[in-house]
Amino acid sequence: MRITIEEDKCCGAGQCVLLAPEVFDQRDEDGVVVLLDAEPPSEQHAAAREAAAVCPASVIEVHA
Ligand code: SF4
Repeated sequence: MRITIEEDKCCGAGQCVLLAPEVFDQRDEDGVVVLLDAEPPSEQHAAAREAAAVCPASVIEVHA
């Protein structure tokens, strides 16, 4: 799995961080998403996919 983000679309809602805190974080100053792990281990895949699905701004793309 490889994850990419389009951080300029991020509205800082933080859903991704709640669902997958090992994979995503938010910048302290403005809440914009930070990708911590672009190629997460398999135990993180379900959480990463869920984060991509719920992100209100469709920032997160998950590539097989
Ligand atoms: S859920 Fe989407 S909009 Fe919200 S912080 Fe994460 S990437 Fe940004």
